[in-house]
Amino acid sequence: MSENAKTYSAREIVLSLFPATDAALVPGPEPYRFEATPEGLRVHRDGAELVLLAAVSSAGRASTQLLCDLCQRSAPRPYLQVFRAEVPGSKGRRYRYVTLCRDTRGCEARRRGEDGPVEALLSRVLGR
Ligand SMILES: [Zn+2]
Repeated sequence: MSENAKTYSAREIVLSLFPATDAALVPGPEPYRFEATPEGLRVHRDGAELVLLAAVSSAGRASTQLLCDLCQRSAPRPYLQVFRAEVPGSKGRRYRYVTLCRDTRGCEARRRGEDGPVEALLSRVLGR
């Protein structure tokens, strides 16, 4: 087996091998995962990377309140991080910006595991 072997989720296996399975019996998609990397934050689900959010260095007064685009918490600048994502097809000429909590666990708890805020963020960043 090669090191780059793709892994498949239970959902993908059921849908590809048993496409006629009743929708109620098909396993739901995995939750979105946020992975901190040296470049920033990778958002992925079911083994596919959806977007790389590059951290933007902080500038301005530390007392400025920012709002998290995922959980809607507002807090002073040191508690949040601004990220940028390249607009697909722009070849590095256009970016969209999002602000997220540095405390990713607390942010996830405030979202209560709901997918809606992450999907809204992805549609904003990816323009779809
Ligand atoms: Zn948050």
